[in-house]
Amino acid sequence: MTLAAGAQNRDYPIQPVTFNHVHVHDQFWAPRIATNADVTIPYVLQKCRETGRVDNFLKAAGKKAPENLTEYPFDDSDIFKVIEGASYALQVKPNPALDRSIDSLITIIGEAQEPDGYLYTFRTMKPAKLHPWISPKRWEKDPDLSHELYNSGHLYEAAVAHYLSTGKKTLLNIATKNADLIVKDFLVGKAPYFPGHQVIETGLSRLYRVTGKKEYLDLAKYFLDIRGNGKVRGSEYSQSHKPVVDQHEAVGHAVRAAYMYTGMADVAALTGDESYISAINAIWTDVVTKKMYLTGGIGATGAGEAFGAAYQFPNMSDYAETCASIANVYWNNRMFLLHGDARYIDVMERVLYNGMLSGVAQNGTRFFYPNPLASMGQHQRSAWFGCACCISNVTRFMPSVPGYVYAQDKNNLYVNLFMTNEADVELPATKVKVSQETSYPWQGQVKVKVDPSKKASFAVRVRIPGWARQEAVPGDLYRFADTKEEKIVIKLNGKAIDYKLDKGYAVLDRTWSKGDVIEMELPMQVEKVLANENVKDDKGRYALQRGPILYCLEGPDHTDNAVQNIIVPQQAVLKENFEPNFLNGVMVLNGEGSATSRQVNSDELLKKRLPVKAIPYYAWNNRGAGEMVVWIPEEEGGAKPKPAPTIASRSKVSASINNQRMLASLNDQFEPANSEDKSALYLHWWPKKDTDEWIQYTFDKEETVSESKIYWYDDSPFGGCRIPASWRVLYKKGDEWVPVQNETPYETAKDKYNVIKFAPVKTTAIRIEIKLPKNHATGVHEWIVK
Ligand SMILES: [Zn+2]
Repeated sequence: MTLAAGAQNRDYPIQPVTFNHVHVHDQFWAPRIATNADVTIPYVLQKCRETGRVDNFLKAAGKKAPENLTEYPFDDSDIFKVIEGASYALQVKPNPALDRSIDSLITIIGEAQEPDGYLYTFRTMKPAKLHPWISPKRWEKDPDLSHELYNSGHLYEAAVAHYLSTGKKTLLNIATKNADLIVKDFLVGKAPYFPGHQVIETGLSRLYRVTGKKEYLDLAKYFLDIRGNGKVRGSEYSQSHKPVVDQHEAVGHAVRAAYMYTGMADVAALTGDESYISAINAIWTDVVTKKMYLTGGIGATGAGEAFGAAYQFPNMSDYAETCASIANVYWNNRMFLLHGDARYIDVMERVLYNGMLSGVAQNGTRFFYPNPLASMGQHQRSAWFGCACCISNVTRFMPSVPGYVYAQDKNNLYVNLFMTNEADVELPATKVKVSQETSYPWQGQVKVKVDPSKKASFAVRVRIPGWARQEAVPGDLYRFADTKEEKIVIKLNGKAIDYKLDKGYAVLDRTWSKGDVIEMELPMQVEKVLANENVKDDKGRYALQRGPILYCLEGPDHTDNAVQNIIVPQQAVLKENFEPNFLNGVMVLNGEGSATSRQVNSDELLKKRLPVKAIPYYAWNNRGAGEMVVWIPEEEGGAKPKPAPTIASRSKVSASINNQRMLASLNDQFEPANSEDKSALYLHWWPKKDTDEWIQYTFDKEETVSESKIYWYDDSPFGGCRIPASWRVLYKKGDEWVPVQNETPYETAKDKYNVIKFAPVKTTAIRIEIKLPKNHATGVHEWIVK
């Protein structure tokens, strides 16, 4: 990294070997990084044009009328993020066309900037009506939702990337002009607002590193210290409920939080302020031992896109935003750079290969925002989102992956991740060419060649992954069922050597010569992972992991495309099998389990043996929407058996909305825990309100029915659905709908079946008419008829 003259000399004790010094050409990451550069970046640029994000800048520049602006004031940041990604990509592989299109975007951005440096298209274009998130006064609503400082943060990250990759200062000049204004307004003018969505803290630290301008670092620190000072109303949602150094638990919006912890690490490294470090150390322990999914995903709940309570891990409604996974990588990498401990890389690797990678489809043009660990088919990657944060974040993240492979600290060379590559590292003792050959993550053999330009003494620290030492994660949130530990043999030039294990690294401290070769074989066995018993959602279940890769069962590989009904005993033996032409080449796990189904008039489940096949979790949902499960039940209690054939299940379902997945939820015989249970599908009419709606079962033959049981969906107080204003049951008589003669009263209650018995009718169809409440919609979990 080029440092400006006079730049600081205090920084992280450990420095990454930056991605431009690491040439990755393996079978796993290199194709993904290439897809990102060749497909995703041009695709996202095109989408930014189509959706009006580029026009926002033209409007602010006065070159277009300020009409029909896009949806969110943070839409500017998508342009910055894709420029950041494109800049990294340009460094890896020259692309003159992309270079030119970035240059022309930067010109437009410059024209949208106000003379004093302010850059925020939603205000500058002077729309007829200001977006409701924006105050007439600059910065005033940033603590809430205006995202003025958020956009600036992404601008700085992009500007530094663009400058370091291309040597051009065009975007950097725009960034420093903007940062100088913010220095003036906040550091000098003492504007009392904290950034509502963090990211400017890391952006300013980067800007400080390349310019050496101390005010940028002071401003980053100002933005941390102003949080929770009691002068502007704060909240847990934006981690402004108390001073950052007094925060010891992860709360609120997960992306904001993890960006802030990353920013605290940066400022601590650059200033030496230990109080930030003790806060993020405590928060890290809280996350890793109580609030992180097995995928490495963070943020359990969609309400506020936030961290849940300790051990709260709903699998189907899991949020685990792709942005939060990316932020979790940033944060854990910074924790490693501070502490030199491999456990941070263990967490980072888990996110990288699982919860982050699942965010993007193998074709590079479909994306997940939440990354659930179970599905009935309601989840599908999208081509775009109105809020496109995760998509543009993927474009900037992917090319940075090679930058996480090595790091250095004086004469210590860290080997953190395993992928075939060649890298140049400059240690105080000597320059070293270091390279790896491996088929990781599918095979455990890793060969590291160490080629110093002259004989020299230094330490190579090779990470022994936690999973290879039978540790699923640091702490006791997840553990392997079988913890037979094998000593990992390391060979030097063909001979096994003794080594010392320090903070998760095998330390090889010696005099190195040209052509020295380290060989290691990590034990890639199939592990069954168990969750801490406080995690009620994973009780009686286990997950499959092999090496760093987490597995799942997916519909297309199983009978009737169903997996929610499958149980696999924990003792089952699963055999690995590499399938080179399946899902771009994956190791699959094959075994045997049972499919369970219900029967009528008996609580006993029917069980039928069937072959099961587990695929890497990151690769799911590349064959269309369908069922998926990560946590596999080992006994009957945990599975969702296939429904028994009943009148309802044999019926054709229709309703006043036509959404096949919602219709299927009415008779799927999934028993909700309560009205607001989001763990499976339900039917709802949101955002309608105060309308008349209906649901209907059409039987395959004439049936006699005399009872209806309906379970309402109601997500009050935060959601939009409530129990209905009223409802009634009708049956088909000839061509007419006739109300049944009820023998029990109609009730409208939450959290239970509303049962009505009526005089038996012979009919071919039955219907419920539902009157939605005045101000809300209604939803239905399940409807049973007898
Ligand atoms: Zn996002």
